Amino acid sequence: IAKQVAPGSHVFFSQEMADEIQERLTIANALQQALQNNELELYFQPQQRVADNQLTGVEALLRWLPEGKAPIPPGIFIPIAEETSLICDIGSWVLRQACVRFDAWQALPNRPERMSVNISARHFHGPDFISQLSLLIHQYPSCRHRLTLEVTEGVFLENLHDSRSRMAHIKALGVNISIDDFGTGYSSFAYLRELPVDELKLDRAFIQYVAERPQDKAIISCLLELARTLNMEVVAEGVETPAQLATLSELNCGIYQGYLRARPMCEDDLIAWLKHL
Ligand code: C2E
Ligand code: MG
Ligand code: MG
Ligand code: MG
Repeated sequence: IAKQVAPGSHVFFSQEMADEIQERLTIANALQQALQNNELELYFQPQQRVADNQLTGVEALLRWLPEGKAPIPPGIFIPIAEETSLICDIGSWVLRQACVRFDAWQALPNRPERMSVNISARHFHGPDFISQLSLLIHQYPSCRHRLTLEVTEGVFLENLHDSRSRMAHIKALGVNISIDDFGTGYSSFAYLRELPVDELKLDRAFIQYVAERPQDKAIISCLLELARTLNMEVVAEGVETPAQLATLSELNCGIYQGYLRARPMCEDDLIAWLKHL
């Protein structure tokens, strides 16, 4: 780092920064091992219709469960993986595993109709992404028209042109596209005109005070209207209270997901949960 700085200028490179970098490297190495040692697992969180609680799908959420140690949350390890191509290896594993599990559920009673998978920008824009997806859809035809890719707005802002052509390929494979954490980035609405987006996921930040704050309710109401006009589905994330759900119902929000009804679960727990629907 010091070499890139003009001579005579000061470089602030503290011990904390060095420790932080070391810590991230350690986690990245352990994560690489974890992928090889099968310490990664998909959990699944149900998504339900606001109007009648009917199950519409599940979101796959990655868990790192190191042998004999406390689980490491994705909020910690995903951003570290995203700094390198490790996120492509992890993302490929997640995508394949999601298809394999979904395909295995075909005979289950009350099985979810859809599977949503989070995709990082680097993986999405990577050289193999479309061919990987295409291979999976051909290997697991039960996933066609059943798979939704959740991407954040940042994916498009970096490279709108590449995004447009990739999304055309994705749509042609019969895979849906959802914008995750909608409304939290430095977003412009322009890309919504240009890209074949199927679904908006309203970030938990908007849902949290929807029952108490008229401002938040007004914003959600507008986003729902926008989505209706553009023919997009809306999923409210992070619904924790009956009051939040009641407000979403009043606003005619389509789908919700949150601790109120179900936390992310391992596959066995999900299968048990489905039996009680
Ligand atoms: P996300 O995709 O926005 O997922 C929603 C997060 O909110 C999940 O956290 C979920 O467990 C949590 N959540 C769901 N309902 C509630 C609720 O009612 N209250 C609260 N407080 N939280 C709720 P999680 O599983 O820790 O994942 C965090 C983030 O890590 C995800 O945010 C996503 O950005 C990323 N992530 C998780 N799995 C993957 C993956 O397989 N690939 C990639 N690229 N990213 C992933
Ligand atoms: Mg998500
Ligand atoms: Mg989200
Ligand atoms: Mg998020």
